[in-house]
Amino acid sequence: MTARLDVLCAGYAADRVASTVVLIRDQDAVIVVDPGMVADRRRILDPLARLGVEPASVTDVVFSHHHPDHTLNAALFERARFHDVWAIYSGDEWTDRPADGFALSPGVRLMATPGHTAQDITTLVSTDGGLAACTHLWWSAEGPDIDPLAEDQALLERSRARLLGLSPALIVPGHGAPFDPAGLEQQP
Ligand SMILES: [Zn+2]
Ligand SMILES: [Zn+2]
Repeated sequence: MTARLDVLCAGYAADRVASTVVLIRDQDAVIVVDPGMVADRRRILDPLARLGVEPASVTDVVFSHHHPDHTLNAALFERARFHDVWAIYSGDEWTDRPADGFALSPGVRLMATPGHTAQDITTLVSTDGGLAACTHLWWSAEGPDIDPLAEDQALLERSRARLLGLSPALIVPGHGAPFDPAGLEQQP
């Protein structure tokens, strides 16, 4: 049994910015990745409703990193526990744990992928179509290859290579629609 992944909002980054917001359902886990900036909260809530998911039934929220464009609408999910690179947050409980390798459910796990920031994590999802990776290592299929906001571009490129080494079938980038990474040149 594999996880189901739906893109609620395909993000963009130009004059205005919206994050890619993703829903993952895997057995009892209902996971939202990057409830960030969008033009209107309905851009998250309406697709969620169409999929038959109430915000209060979301069990987990993952922050790919801490920038506001990826976190701003976290409070829509009042019952979720929240995951970042450092810890799990639930109510007033802060539980430290390393994110790398942490499993949220049988088919969903986290991977530390620093570069854009030191706190970047990728959400790896086992789907019927293969491994999908929700990640800010790419903004979109169209680039940019050099992340203009990266804290450490060399580290980012090593993280990209490590992720591509897992042979993902799908990249769900930080600010765009999912794409097949087969066309990307693997970094040496
Ligand atoms: Zn960012
Ligand atoms: Zn971003």
